[in-house]
Amino acid sequence: MIRRTKILIVEDEKDIVELVHYNLEKEGYSVTAVSSGEDALKALERDLPALIVLDLMLPGMDGLETCRLIKQEPKTKNIPIIMLTAKSEESDVIVGLKLGADDYVTKPFSPKILMARIKAVLRRTAEKQVSHDVKTIGALTIDTPKHKVMYKDKEIDLTRIEFNILEFLSRQPGRVFSRDQIMDGAWKEGKFIVDRAVDVHVRGLRKKLGKAADFVETVRGVGYRFKEIEDN
Ligand code: CA
Repeated sequence: MIRRTKILIVEDEKDIVELVHYNLEKEGYSVTAVSSGEDALKALERDLPALIVLDLMLPGMDGLETCRLIKQEPKTKNIPIIMLTAKSEESDVIVGLKLGADDYVTKPFSPKILMARIKAVLRRTAEKQVSHDVKTIGALTIDTPKHKVMYKDKEIDLTRIEFNILEFLSRQPGRVFSRDQIMDGAWKEGKFIVDRAVDVHVRGLRKKLGKAADFVETVRGVGYRFKEIEDN
C-alpha cells in the first residue's frame, strides 16, 4: 500500500471544501474534510494529518480558537496550519500567525495558489525536521551524522531502520506519532510496508536499547513517542 500525505480541511463552505478536496486529491494527497472546529479536534484524536487547512470563519468555535487549541496540545502542536481567511479578517491573520499558524491564503483564492502554499509549508516542515545534530537526552546520545547511538558511553548497534525510527521520534519529544507517520518519517525509501512492521522494528529497537528502552513509549491505540524529559 502506498502511504499518501494526509491533509485535514476544516471549512463549512461546501464549494470551497469541494474545490480544495478535488485539487488535493489530484495532487496525490489523502484528504479528510470536517465542517467545524469541534469536529477538527475530534478528527485529530483519531489521526494526525501532515497539514491542516483551517478556515477562520466557522460555525461554533471559530478558526482562531481552533488554532489555539491545536497549538496548545503537545500531540498536535507541530502540525502546520494554513489559514483560509476573508479580506475583512486580516487582523485575525496576525493573531493566527502569533498562535503558531504557518501561513494563510485570502479568499477568494485560486487552487494553484493554495497548492503552492501547502507544498511550501510541507517542504519547510520537512527541512526543519531533518536533523544533522548530535543530540544528548539524559544518558542517551543520538549522533545523526555518524548514525550512532550511545547510552552511557556504550555504543548501541542498531539497524538503519531502528536508528531512523529512534532519530525520527526524538526530533519531537512528547509528540505521539502514528505508525503511518513513523513509516513516512523513518523509511526514506519504499513505503510499501505494513503497519505491523513498525511494531516489529520498535520491539527490536527497545531490546537493543536495554535500560534506555523507556525513552520509546507506546501510546495505546495511537502509536509511539519519544519520552519528554524536563531539562533545567
Ligand atoms: Ca467558513
